Amino acid sequence: MFSADYTPFFESVLFEAFGKDVEVNKYQFLGGGCINNAVKLDTAMGKFFLKWNDSKQSEEMFEAEANGLSLLIDKQAITIPHVIKYGNNNGKAYLLLEFISSAYRQKNYWERLGGQLADLHRNTHSYFGLHFNNFIGALPQSNEYLPSWVDFFIEKRLKVQAGLAYYNGLVGKDLLKKMEKLYEKLPSMLPEEQPALLHGDLWSGNVMVDSQGLPCLIDPAVYYGNREIELAFTQLFGGFDDDFYYAYQASFPLLPEFDKRVEIYNLYPLLVHVNLFGTSYLSGVERVLKRYE
Ligand code: ADP
Repeated sequence: MFSADYTPFFESVLFEAFGKDVEVNKYQFLGGGCINNAVKLDTAMGKFFLKWNDSKQSEEMFEAEANGLSLLIDKQAITIPHVIKYGNNNGKAYLLLEFISSAYRQKNYWERLGGQLADLHRNTHSYFGLHFNNFIGALPQSNEYLPSWVDFFIEKRLKVQAGLAYYNGLVGKDLLKKMEKLYEKLPSMLPEEQPALLHGDLWSGNVMVDSQGLPCLIDPAVYYGNREIELAFTQLFGGFDDDFYYAYQASFPLLPEFDKRVEIYNLYPLLVHVNLFGTSYLSGVERVLKRYE
């Protein structure tokens, strides 16, 4: 198999970032990402993380990701890799970040993450949304401001993904009708809280261990939302230790009966998965909708 030498590309990106020649001594492709190419660069200036993509939309995606990371960094609640540079180098959109070297998890790793996420969520806003749009996976995510969480969740999250699934022939009109029925019930089911700054895509694959054995978050899809949707999503694919939930609750208790709302919030990531990865995720959506017919 022909394998390209990427070194000139990497060095050109590093030149763009630092304004001088930086030699790449070694590079290593990293797996785990769903969308982009990712490498660890070993250079004379230290290690860097670089991801890139040839697709047209990627430049916008990396810009939104960089802005999301920077926003989270500013709040100083959780460790986030520093953004060094993003842009387009010879038709390749890229994002260059601080490289996170992982150590063994410290004993209080999950407890720490719970407390830190609560700290992040204490950053509030008067509206739900954000001053820029971003992406959830490879799909556009609108963050147009709205004053009500229920309206935001329905209009900017559920309807967008359900509509896209219908448009792409992944679901039928019957599912849209069931969704409409659910929308009518949501105002009496979902509590309103002050909009909180969310990571926005918090599953275990986006939590890394840093060089001190403490948590570090990557790949955000930030916006101000109801923090319940963030905690709900951590439960969808699992991987978060009980200590995480205890520490979060101890620091910033959720409203009563949160557990009953978890599956409603997770309709959003499930519909996103239907659109990104196919109809195998549909049964999860249908199971929830059946309960609210
Ligand atoms: P994608 O945008 O394709 O989902 P990710 O951002 O998830 O890519 O990155 C792919 C993998 O690279 C992650 O699963 C993680 O293991 C690793 N990774 C991501 N960011 C960093 C970083 N700053 N330092 C070190 N490794 C990273």
